[in-house]
Amino acid sequence: MYKSSNLGYPRIGEKREWKRALERYWKGDCSEEELLQETKNLRLKNLQKQKLQGIDLIPVGDFSFYDHVLDTATMFGQVPSRFAYNGGKVPLQTYFQIARGNTTAVAAAMKKWFNTNYHYIVPELGERKPTLTENRPLFFYREAKEALGIEGKPVLLGPLTFIKLAKGYEEDKLEETVASYLPLYAQILKELEAEGVKWIQIDEPYLVTDVTPREWQITQQIYHTLQEAAPKLKVILQTYFDAVTDYETIISLPVAGIGLDFVHDDGQHLASIQQYGFPEDKILAAGIIDGRNVWRTNLEEKWGLLAKIQKAVGSENIIIQPSSSLLHVPVTVKEEQIDPIVKVALSFADEKLQEISTLTEGVRKGKAAIQAQIDQSVEAISKLNASSARNNQILHEELNRASDKPERSENVTIRQQAQQGAFSLPILPTTTIGSFPQTKEVRKERLRWRKGEITNEEYETFIQAEIKKWIEIQEDLGLDVFVHGEFERTDMVEYFGEKLAGFQFTTYGWVQSYGSRCVKPPIIYGDVAYVKPMTVKETVYAQSLTTKPVKGMLTGPITILNWSFVRDDISRAEVAKQIAFSLKKEVEELERNDIRMIQVDEPAIREGLPLKKERWKPYLDTAVYSFKLATTSVEKETQIHTHMCYSNFEDIIDAIDALDVDVISIETSRSHGEFIQTFAKKTYDKGIGLGVYDIHSPRVPTKEEITQNIEHALGVLDPHLFWINPDCGLKTRNEEETIGALEVMVEAAKETREKL
Ligand code: GLN
Ligand code: ZN
Repeated sequence: MYKSSNLGYPRIGEKREWKRALERYWKGDCSEEELLQETKNLRLKNLQKQKLQGIDLIPVGDFSFYDHVLDTATMFGQVPSRFAYNGGKVPLQTYFQIARGNTTAVAAAMKKWFNTNYHYIVPELGERKPTLTENRPLFFYREAKEALGIEGKPVLLGPLTFIKLAKGYEEDKLEETVASYLPLYAQILKELEAEGVKWIQIDEPYLVTDVTPREWQITQQIYHTLQEAAPKLKVILQTYFDAVTDYETIISLPVAGIGLDFVHDDGQHLASIQQYGFPEDKILAAGIIDGRNVWRTNLEEKWGLLAKIQKAVGSENIIIQPSSSLLHVPVTVKEEQIDPIVKVALSFADEKLQEISTLTEGVRKGKAAIQAQIDQSVEAISKLNASSARNNQILHEELNRASDKPERSENVTIRQQAQQGAFSLPILPTTTIGSFPQTKEVRKERLRWRKGEITNEEYETFIQAEIKKWIEIQEDLGLDVFVHGEFERTDMVEYFGEKLAGFQFTTYGWVQSYGSRCVKPPIIYGDVAYVKPMTVKETVYAQSLTTKPVKGMLTGPITILNWSFVRDDISRAEVAKQIAFSLKKEVEELERNDIRMIQVDEPAIREGLPLKKERWKPYLDTAVYSFKLATTSVEKETQIHTHMCYSNFEDIIDAIDALDVDVISIETSRSHGEFIQTFAKKTYDKGIGLGVYDIHSPRVPTKEEITQNIEHALGVLDPHLFWINPDCGLKTRNEEETIGALEVMVEAAKETREKL
């Protein structure tokens, strides 16, 4: 009984119809009824597509108006008490207010969904009694059945994961908290069973993190209770993104099937099945098609993997499926107009479903039935592998010669003296993080230039005028270290990707990031190589206008890597090295052009940390190596900066220290300086700028607030190492707010200096 299945389909539509509908509704341009109708049409179209692809178990209830964690929270009546709510099904209006805030109440917090770039809304438990306000899975099951005759597989976020992602309960009360939700889950399952639903997918991705023995015990209780509640319902306990931490326990749970990720598990699941076997009476839902990446599957390889899995399982109780929900990949390659060699080697959601059907057909009818498709997949991939884009021999030789242990030639103390001599900065120097407001006008001009409505020269003149204007503003403000303002950049990865070899940009390759916001990650398909200077012209121009140092501004290798879809024929470490090597050339080019402060931003280091601690070291080693490869070849007078948009460094401080940057700027104002201790004098001996005000809010801070933040930091940090800067780049703020806030910041810095 081989079956094909899907775990979740992208919500956004081929042309982001979902996003548009939502935003029209938010603006008041369409009624709730219209929104409901439009999203229903889209949902049915998506179901129909999956049916046509031949998928046996089609997920229902994976759709969301914003986020599936928020859906689960509101289904259980968990509306934060700052929002009005009178019980019953949570109105759509209220649902959106929790996600987006309203005039009197702030939105609920948003966090990254495991190690993906999708963000979920953090449930706030404990303020209202858990109650079942609607049975969402049942609703969507009925909808699919009535409209299309599809026997859907409802998807439900499991109790352990739901609660672990939430806040508002004490860890030592985890058992009680779970117990307060279990009857609601049981009720949902009972109703589904009564309806005649056959399968349900319960997602517990939390089980691939560092789960404690106590949490495994709780998991056992959960699934025993649910089994008793609805004994006829076939529950597939679904995990993804990594290997489950306790294989023997998970296969002993009283569920019909276990869903495992065979792509991101480092080979652990197959090894576990081979070692411990797989229970005869259970179904293995085998996630063998990568749900996180965009590459076409090598069907020959997956056929081989499947054969091994079959042999180890010893039965036909196997479901073939993607490794995770397809939420994390774009919808279809079909409409893309890109290099054909790349195009045929890509596979987005629709193409992945086709691969799943093909493999399922193969195991049912024999390999010969799908040999043609296997051959095509192998050919498409070999062609791309053999292409010149992946075989840049000159680069490979250069990379072979690159140092294994890149280090600055002088230690930090010597560098600090040399740099002080070169720049003669005052104590507590003031600076900003890089970008200045990207006004409507800036975006409009860029669009006109992209469309060919203005010439390159006209566009450059425009950018130069912006730079000049902001250099003057920085002079007036009395800042000590300037930036050029990043007006020529839309996005910190795209800008570099467009100038380096090896990147491909799609037209419709969007994926949901949070709410209606979608991102279009570049695709690293070939060897990443330096083509020409990327930032020199703008930086040199800015520097020509002032005697104050202007920081060159680059995006770091790990951030470029983590915010792209990355080729999978070589290791991520290798790709990181290629990116780093290109950045090294840019750093050297800037230095040759007399830019002596260079900032290499790495906002994504922390978010890319693997889910399990045991895998952190190789990841951080790669991060440190590539950062140092890019930044350490400069002279001792050249000052390397970095910026990271968070402040919780406790567990990675050694890696941060190992970057050996001269100055790091980090966010702190929103965490109220809780983490300053991590950088206390004894442990951290390099320059450090703590964000002294929050740039995410339009409010201009008061001098007292900023002074307080500075003084707080100086209680712990050496004033000679301390820099004063905002939390992050200023591109989302307007001119008035920006100037207002920086004025206050400079003033606060001057006053504090006098007191020292
Ligand atoms: N230099 C970038 C800017 O100022 C940094 C952005 C970021 O850290 N996300 O916009
Ligand atoms: Zn930032």
